[in-house]
Amino acid sequence: MIGPGTQLEQQRRLLLMDRSRPGRRGVAMPGLDVPEHDLPSADLLRADLPLPEVSQLEVVRYFTLLSQLNFSVDTNFYPLGSCTMKYNPRINEDVARIPGVAGVHPLQPTEGAQGALELMHRLQDMLAEITGMVATSLAPLAGAHGELAGVLMIRAYHHSRGEAQRTKMLVPDSAHGTNPATAAMAGYDVVSIPSDERGNMDLDALREASDDNLAGLMITLPSTLGLFDTGVLDVVRIVHEAGGLVYGDGANMNALMGRAKLGALGFDVVHLNLHKTFSTPHGGGGPGAGPVCVNQTLAPFLPSPVVSEEEGEGGSWFSLDDPQQSIGRLGGFQGNFGVLVRAYAYLRSLGEDGLKAVTDNAVLNANYVMQGLRPHYDLPYDRTCMHEAVFSARRQEAQGLKALDVAKRLLDYGIHAPTMYFPLIVGEALMIEPTEAETKETLDYFIEVMEHIAGEAMEDPETVRGAPYGAANTRLDEAGAARHPDLRWKPAS
Ligand SMILES: *Cc1c(COP(=O)(O)O)cnc(C)c1O
Repeated sequence: MIGPGTQLEQQRRLLLMDRSRPGRRGVAMPGLDVPEHDLPSADLLRADLPLPEVSQLEVVRYFTLLSQLNFSVDTNFYPLGSCTMKYNPRINEDVARIPGVAGVHPLQPTEGAQGALELMHRLQDMLAEITGMVATSLAPLAGAHGELAGVLMIRAYHHSRGEAQRTKMLVPDSAHGTNPATAAMAGYDVVSIPSDERGNMDLDALREASDDNLAGLMITLPSTLGLFDTGVLDVVRIVHEAGGLVYGDGANMNALMGRAKLGALGFDVVHLNLHKTFSTPHGGGGPGAGPVCVNQTLAPFLPSPVVSEEEGEGGSWFSLDDPQQSIGRLGGFQGNFGVLVRAYAYLRSLGEDGLKAVTDNAVLNANYVMQGLRPHYDLPYDRTCMHEAVFSARRQEAQGLKALDVAKRLLDYGIHAPTMYFPLIVGEALMIEPTEAETKETLDYFIEVMEHIAGEAMEDPETVRGAPYGAANTRLDEAGAARHPDLRWKPAS
């Protein structure tokens, strides 16, 4: 077990060391100064609960070592397209930890939670303003959950008008996988609409699919190609003329905030990913929030609860309401309050001008990277991009390499991989989203590394294929890691 080695080798060794010893404790409890309570009934108690027995220092070391094996936005450039791994300003964390905010209980009576409800009400209004809509529900707990809320509202709307025959949901072929999945979950027949050679939606195909059975269209703007669909007004008109509604996937608002409102373009419902655009640390599965913002048509159908305000003599009074024809509840309580607080703090600290600056810088950074990489990688849709740029490793494929190899090689230079193999319509896709927070120096470094890897791919493809060389884990069996994860400590038997 012992021996010298690189820091990484030492970390791996120390992590594998079994630190558990019988009787070792992390905390020393003070003597009991309250009446002793009876234990729960015997069938609820386990005689044997094999947990590691470790001191506090050992626990701290173990988890700190583990965290150091990871890439994170706090340590490394993280251009993971569509995921918006932007810097989360620490003030938002401070606000979420204010005791009155962190300790508020979801079952607290309304009288005792007016401050929390007021915060939610203000956030509803701000998100409606940003999207150009009239009402918001903060209930959905993730992006895909917001999508489901939106599509169920569209369904409830058609049913309320006696138009249950509208069973078709259109989804462009560039869409995020959650879009067709959501439509199918809501019971719709999903019809895919192709993109044209410029990356816009094919209007002829859209016209053809827009008939009396049309329920709606799910569109992402900017599209997952990182492009602003210049035909979007025609798209909205065609869907509306056929009696359908337009759903906007607003998971990535980093290119539009303060500059363009989806409601003004005619969208009927939009979901937002607060954990992407509005600064909640994410990855690893949560928590998140996917509020839905709607126009007048869909406002009665919003999921409950929504927070409403009544002006009285003593000032405003905030309460939790069920909209008239609500699609109902999507989960327990009032949504992920901690995520809502972070988004509120983020919006208040930036203000309107700050939000515009975020948008401008996000788009500028993406275009800067796009221009820097153009000579070295294939750019299937060669036009000004929005918050992200989608390249293809097709040129490197000619050397027997894959997008995966380029992504793995980046790890050796301290850079997290871009999103790969998505959108599906780009072969060997590398989807790069630098976000607004990065400096020009970081972007220049990234461009230099990518150029270097492109050179290696030509001269020494074997080196690229064997990457990464300096990571704790190299090439994983990804299906195995997802299906049979080994995540917990097991006692030595
Ligand atoms: C991330 C993302 C989603 C899904 O959001 P989750 O919070 O992961 O459910 C949907 N659409 C787009 C375009 C996204 O980038």
